Amino acid sequence: MVQTSAELTRVTSESLLDATRAVVAGGGSSNMRNLGIQTPLVLDRSAGCRIWDVEGNELIDVNMGYGPHLFGYADPDVLGVVAQRLRLGAITGIPHRLDHEAGELIAATFPSIEQVRFANSGTEAITSALRLARFTTGRDLVVTFEGHYHGWSETVLRKAAITGGGADPHGAVPGAPGMIPSALSYTLQLPWNDTEALERLFAERGGEIAAVILEPICGNAGVVHPLPGFLERIAELSASNGALLVFDEVITGCRVALGGAQELLGVRPDLTILSKVVGGGFPVAAFGGGKEIMAPLARNEAFHAGVFSGNHAAVAAVVAMLGKLRDDPSVYETLDLIGGELEQRLTKTFVAAGRHARVVRAGSVISVALLTERQDGVPAYDAGVPLIDFAAHRRLQDLCQRAGLYFHPNPLEPWFLSVTHTPDVLDRVVGTIEESLSRL
Ligand code: PLP
Repeated sequence: MVQTSAELTRVTSESLLDATRAVVAGGGSSNMRNLGIQTPLVLDRSAGCRIWDVEGNELIDVNMGYGPHLFGYADPDVLGVVAQRLRLGAITGIPHRLDHEAGELIAATFPSIEQVRFANSGTEAITSALRLARFTTGRDLVVTFEGHYHGWSETVLRKAAITGGGADPHGAVPGAPGMIPSALSYTLQLPWNDTEALERLFAERGGEIAAVILEPICGNAGVVHPLPGFLERIAELSASNGALLVFDEVITGCRVALGGAQELLGVRPDLTILSKVVGGGFPVAAFGGGKEIMAPLARNEAFHAGVFSGNHAAVAAVVAMLGKLRDDPSVYETLDLIGGELEQRLTKTFVAAGRHARVVRAGSVISVALLTERQDGVPAYDAGVPLIDFAAHRRLQDLCQRAGLYFHPNPLEPWFLSVTHTPDVLDRVVGTIEESLSRL
């Protein structure tokens, strides 16, 4: 007989995860969710920056669902708008007045965007944007950078993107078994922050490159900022060679500044990918650019579709979130203060505990990683990842999780702060790290 979760005699995360694994492969619907966790954790609810497991334990969360929740989980403002929309019809498959409102808000927020298309996930939006770039330029090659993650689709998922390098970072090693190896033969990968390698590639193959895609501030190999001038050089070379510059702002969009990294760093891409914060925690993504770039889609010559793409509930979430952010952009100062304080306190804590660690921040995104040896300065991607002590980080994660602080067991996944990470919460975060380091 099937035992439902309510019938399990004493529901614990462990027992429920075991039961779930019988019916959901691996226990969670993303490999990243089933990777590296040592003590089972199954949730019941979340609010603000707090999560509660099925046993009723409260934890502080600094992973925050990988980043969408700038105002914390279950923000009543965004929730209210979406709940209202759900009652009025969540999806019809027909253009809706909200499409106009959300499109206008995005165009007013992001310097490089005049038109968008909505999608359901970053992976989908990126797949469509790269297809559009190939169509527009009539070229095949796409350039990516080591450590940057652009979703799990066939032409972009490489080994280095999910393991944090080490394994053949320059070669076309598919990121997962079952992928078509030849699908990566049109996707070249360069080391991040390496201007020489970039210039060499453009000198040799510039006329074949359809697009260069990157996270303007890398957030998937920990936080790795672009070195001064690097983005500008990519933009120059792309423009002079007729390739499109694509900013994957899935993390940075409305996170590092209202208008994303492109506003913060003053570099304009041809195409931008948005998701996470823009959707306020609802499953929505968008890609967009100037009218000329989007024209093949406007004419229905390039192909992009999806039953749920731009469904009314998701678009309502975009309207609510962007409306709220644009009404009070001072939220970015608040987030920067919260991020700055945590960065400082964590750095001191690791030093005081005699641990080598890297704490790197972009506004309210902080990457925290234990290292095997001391490292000075901001690492370029290549130099940084091999020093990460993955095993020690996982042990620290487990100790913290048991003590009521959740962050991802993979040190390449950054922490995402929200306005609900108030001073008392930061005290608890730092206290838990201190205590756990003493037991590591
Ligand atoms: N791009 C970046 C920078 C991301 O961080 C992610 C996911 O975390 C993606 C793309 C893929 O988005 P999704 O998981 O919604 O497909």
